[in-house]
Amino acid sequence: MRILVTNDDGIDSPGIRALAEVAATKGQTMVFAPNSDKSACGHAMTLHDPIRILPAHWEDIPAYKVAGVPVDCINVGLISGFHEGCELVLSGFNNGPNLGFDTTYSGTVAGAMEGALHGIKSIALSMGIFSGQGDPFFETGARWLQDNWEMLLNMPIAPPGFLSINIPAIPYEEIKGFQITHIGQKFYEGYLEQRHDPWSKPYYWYRGEVIHKTYKPGTDVYAVFNGYVSITPLTPNWTDHGVLEKLETYLSSASLSSKT
Ligand code: MN
Repeated sequence: MRILVTNDDGIDSPGIRALAEVAATKGQTMVFAPNSDKSACGHAMTLHDPIRILPAHWEDIPAYKVAGVPVDCINVGLISGFHEGCELVLSGFNNGPNLGFDTTYSGTVAGAMEGALHGIKSIALSMGIFSGQGDPFFETGARWLQDNWEMLLNMPIAPPGFLSINIPAIPYEEIKGFQITHIGQKFYEGYLEQRHDPWSKPYYWYRGEVIHKTYKPGTDVYAVFNGYVSITPLTPNWTDHGVLEKLETYLSSASLSSKT
């Protein structure tokens, strides 16, 4: 099995090292990762700059640092690394959770989504740290992935669908199990902080302290906050089928035509 590994925290993150080491025990692994931290880049791609790559000089696993974002890493990796394609894309382990609507900002999730758009089975993996700069427990992520590898790869997911997995950042022995989840909600206090520079001009900086989260069972947020690994199936098809039907009903009941 050929496995392409990326992340959004950058090639120097210990999280991608932990993920690639698990992958290397399972198949032919190559790493293409951003040359610096690109967290919260979402599903961006680099259009107006050359995407250069340099060897990262890992001793045991072929690894490259890419002057780009995770989407670029997948595309460059498929062209320059796995010419014949690959069977699995892994993105992570992210140094922080990707839960609720934060998922839409995530470069980690976007890396997996890009793999899925290429028709490749793809999985994003993030560590659920909630205490500021707490220990990300990458070793917990690595061990959980090792122990659940067969189960994950046999899951009936079909690209462009893919998986986003959030693993609580706690000792492995404290993980209670896993839950299949849907996206929940988190709310932040002081989301965007206004400060002033020495010339009294305002500038803004995101902070992002979670003050409230939904505790609805079945959500990704609930699972991780309760010590379970959250496995969420996602799709890049954003069509809201519920609203689609309502719009059709609305148009027909009001005798409106889409041409008027
Ligand atoms: Mn990140």
